[in-house]
Amino acid sequence: MIETDKKKCLRCSACVGVCPKSALTLKEHGIECDGEKCNNCRLCEAFCPMGAIRVVKK
Ligand code: SF4
Ligand code: SF4
Repeated sequence: MIETDKKKCLRCSACVGVCPKSALTLKEHGIECDGEKCNNCRLCEAFCPMGAIRVVKK
């Protein structure tokens, strides 16, 4: 499961494209994470150009 810093997020969708579990969706208010799909692989965290993603354990 991830959390995003909405003040940093550019809504560039890079994290959505890189997630191997298709757990991320770009919504009007920002990135939404499906906790059932996310396996905490941290790929999105590494790819986010703004450092806006933080992996948090459920
Ligand atoms: S990669 Fe980072 S800046 Fe881009 S949409 Fe995802 S959280 Fe936002
Ligand atoms: S930690 Fe991995 S599985 Fe979870 S949202 Fe990020 S890229 Fe997807």
